[in-house]
Amino acid sequence: MARNRGLKEVESMMDVYGAFRAEEPGDDDKMHEECGVFGVWHAQDAAAMTALGLHALQHRGQEATGIATYDGDRFHIHKGLGLVGDNYSDAKTMAGLPGGHAIGHNRYATTGETVLRNVQPLYADFAFGGFAVGHNGNLTNAAAIRRDLVRRGCLFQSSMDSEVFIHLIAISLYSTVLDRLIDALKQVVGAYSLVALSQDGLIGVRDPQGVRPLILGRLPHPDGKDGWVLASETCALEIVGAEFVRDIEPGEVVVINDQGVRSVKPFHRTTSRFCIFEYVYFARPDSVMEGKPVYAARKEIGAMLARESGVDADVIVPVPDSGVPSAMGYAAESGIPYELGIIRNHYVGRTFIEPTDQIRNLGVRLKHSGNRAVLEGKRVILVDDSIVRGTTSRKIVEMVRAAGATEVHMRISSPPTTHSCFYGIDTPERGKLLAARHDVQEMAELIGADSLAFVSIDGLYQALGAARRNAADPQFCDACFTGDYPIALHDLADPPLTLVTKAS
Ligand code: SF4
Repeated sequence: MARNRGLKEVESMMDVYGAFRAEEPGDDDKMHEECGVFGVWHAQDAAAMTALGLHALQHRGQEATGIATYDGDRFHIHKGLGLVGDNYSDAKTMAGLPGGHAIGHNRYATTGETVLRNVQPLYADFAFGGFAVGHNGNLTNAAAIRRDLVRRGCLFQSSMDSEVFIHLIAISLYSTVLDRLIDALKQVVGAYSLVALSQDGLIGVRDPQGVRPLILGRLPHPDGKDGWVLASETCALEIVGAEFVRDIEPGEVVVINDQGVRSVKPFHRTTSRFCIFEYVYFARPDSVMEGKPVYAARKEIGAMLARESGVDADVIVPVPDSGVPSAMGYAAESGIPYELGIIRNHYVGRTFIEPTDQIRNLGVRLKHSGNRAVLEGKRVILVDDSIVRGTTSRKIVEMVRAAGATEVHMRISSPPTTHSCFYGIDTPERGKLLAARHDVQEMAELIGADSLAFVSIDGLYQALGAARRNAADPQFCDACFTGDYPIALHDLADPPLTLVTKAS
């Protein structure tokens, strides 16, 4: 059993390591989703379809949203800060987005601050016509490209890495939109999915290793001619009445227009390295990613966790909402009853918890409360998807004890997060990741749990259907757990692991 340190001792350790200070506004001790993209070609009301698709993808970005439409003659754009529902609910905005073709974007800022000029889709008027683009992911050589472009006289309007696409397309010597885009894609390095709209068609692109997701759907149109949808996840299809066709392949460019869907593969073939964290946490549980239903995958990871690190207990309790499917899998495998021992208040907004430090510190209690009827006198297994800084885990363990639990065993449905993500997921710098500084026993003490265990990296792969992780050529991107980065980090060097001294 881990020794429970006193709160003062824990807090002083936190200050030394800087590991528990939530410095970014709105930081809730989670890795944040990247962005969501959606595109539609040939719909009766493309803007409304796109707003619905973006609504289904809201979990991938809540800071800003934008839609660009093409009506066969002109492009129209709306961009706004905040949620999809705040931006597309009035008739005037929607009337300003006419046309049968559209792309849309939900933003969680991974590069560039959130101001309106940094909201996507980005749009440019080129000699060949209008061009709008929305980007999910992160380019790892954007700073170097940007420096070069600025030297050559390009004037950047935003601080987003995505803007390099616009300038590379502008200066390309090729003549068609597609050839110019491919020319640009061959110069960038990174993890990305793109949707783009030109007068010639809707374009979808996945990076050569397929780290970020993109899927194709078919949308019935009253005129009997197929419409098409591109989206980050399958959960965006059902809401618009589209049917799933297939995943866009790693390194594939699809061009969609009235002639149908054309596929181009301009890159050398490499091993696919889909983001394994999509299965653990990012994707909506009702999505299917690369042929695997996310909900079933999470239950299977929970079952693996039970096999690998079972412990005697009276009740399995998920940390809502992301711990729910894996806790169900854990319970089914272990035979220990599953109960809702933590109740989540869904009506807590960020602005409500921000005003003062005191209120901010209460944040976890505002969002979650311990259900004494379930927890009192019980040995509890808490199941969550990950531990990033550890702040939330510590408060949740405290809360469960305060509600009467006699033992609290924390089980995590991912391996320890030891490295930052540079592929479009917002993670704290490495020095602030709890698992980068402490072994599992120390982490258990710091969060105040009687025991702590993570699913192993091989266990995670097995839960996803692989025999084991192929160390020489892993089947997924798992860099945040292993430090094995599959795409070169030209701009971004992982900072050295040095102690953060206490702020004065
Ligand atoms: Fe996903 Fe982690 Fe790879 Fe980032 S580093 S793409 S979060 S698996």
